[in-house]
This record gives sequence, structure tokens and C-alpha cells, in this order.
Amino acid sequence: MSELDLIAAIRKQAGSSGGRALIRGIGDDCAIVRPKLGHDLVYTSDMALEGRHFTLDTHSAADVGHKALARSLSDLAAMGSKPVFFLVSLAFPQRLGKRWLNGFYRGLLTLAEQHRIALAGGDLANYDRVLVDVTCSGEVPAGTALLRSGAKPGDVLYVTGLLGRAAHALAADLRRYRKFQLRPEPQVELGQRLRKLGVSSCIDLSDGLSLDLHRICQESKVSAILEHVPAASAVTEEEALHGGEDYQLLFTAPKTKRIPADVAIPIGQMVPRGKSSVYYRDRPLTPAGFDHFA
Ligand SMILES: [Mg+2]
Repeated sequence: MSELDLIAAIRKQAGSSGGRALIRGIGDDCAIVRPKLGHDLVYTSDMALEGRHFTLDTHSAADVGHKALARSLSDLAAMGSKPVFFLVSLAFPQRLGKRWLNGFYRGLLTLAEQHRIALAGGDLANYDRVLVDVTCSGEVPAGTALLRSGAKPGDVLYVTGLLGRAAHALAADLRRYRKFQLRPEPQVELGQRLRKLGVSSCIDLSDGLSLDLHRICQESKVSAILEHVPAASAVTEEEALHGGEDYQLLFTAPKTKRIPADVAIPIGQMVPRGKSSVYYRDRPLTPAGFDHFA
């Protein structure tokens, strides 16, 4: 297979799902995107690495494609933005062949279609392992993106779903929560709903509740009292507190703001900055989620 053939095949698979914003997609030196007037564009990029985020034994080609995009879409969700376009750079061993490549783009593009985000371009390389880098862009009305830094003392802390399933699948019962590990669902619609509700801060749970909550506290210069950890059934408290890849949204909102019960579960409250950033059961909680450089 030549690179030209591959690109032609990807272009065909990607179709013309460009949407209004994408003036020019695959096929030129650059993509052209025209932002909507009065909107900010948010950007994020995420790597998915063989042996670190997935293995070729446990993840099918389509799983890898899905997961690579899901990680970035989850960041768009955390900002309360609407997905617009993405770029994907893929390095893979040629021995995996066209079938693997087709599966990868099928997984990627199925999720893309679900969230109406257009594949605008990318890069391909032959390499001895699979490395994926996805850059996503989303839009929000100017000045309304949800930040990590907006939490205030007195705010209530919420999470949009049960925790620990992906970690549990990895640690113990592979079959039961397997799809949470293989095909995580980014909370894109919910993120936009939170922005419209006017919540005060938000982050997506990629590296575990304890670490991601610590990040909100750091950016907002407050502390948090965690009162309740909504663990999924059969999940240990440890997995729910520190396990990565939940891809739920963790956010804060003023006490006076009514957050519908179908949107999120209250799990604690924000307080003035103390000695520790997070307290759980009257004791400081050390962040122990996934730190890439620990
Ligand atoms: Mg994130």
C-alpha cells in the first residue's frame, strides 16, 4: 500500500461530513476552518500510545481509533464546547496491514459521526509501534468556556456518573466493565448542558477523582471536602477514588444553582484553601491517580 492509496481510502471513509465550519478538509496542505462569529475555539491534543494506553492484544483496531478520539473529545466536553473538527496523526507498523488501518478509522469515524466532529486532516507514518495523536477543536460562545479555575468556597462539588468501572475492568473483572476500558464514552452533550446551566468550574475525569479534583483545587485556589464517592457496583473505593479513564465530568456550582438529578450527583463541597487540597473522612486525601511522570 502506498501513502497516496491510504490517504485516498481514509478520505473516502471520512466522506464529506465537514459541516458548515470546515471550508477545506483532507486533500490540501492545510485544512481551512471558518469559526462562527462571536465564538471562541478551544483546542486540545492527546496521545494514545501502544503499551501505555492500549495493547494490540486487548484492543481491536476500532477500539484504538475510538479511544484515541474519545480522550480528546472528553477534554472538549470539560470546556463545555461543541466539537468542530479534529486532526489525527497515526504511526503504525506496516505489517498490521490495510485491515487494521480500516478498523482504526472505522472506530475513529463512527465516534466522530456520533458527535458531529469533522476529520480535517492529519499525518501517517510507518513505525514499529502504534502511536496516535489527536488534536480536537470545539467552539463556545465567546468567554463562556468552562475552566478549572472558577470554583469558589461554598460551591457544591458534583460528578456526572458512577466511578471506577474502567479501573475495575483493568484490575479485576475484565469482562463486566470491559466496554468502559475499550470504548469510553465522552460526555460531550452533558458538557454543553453544564455550560448552559452556568456551573463554576469543570474538568474531565481522565486520571482519577483524587488527582483531577486536586487539579480543580489548585487552579481555583480552594480546597474540597469529599463527602461521598459514587462507586459503580463491585468497584472498590480505591478504584473509584484513584482509578483513571472514567471520562465523567467533575464540576462545581454555587449552592443556589439547581442542578437536575439526571445531570449529576453531589459529592462534596468547596471550602477556603486549607493545608491540603482535598479532605475525605476528615483526613487529607493524597492525589494518587495516574501521573504520567510519577
Ligand atoms: Mg482533561
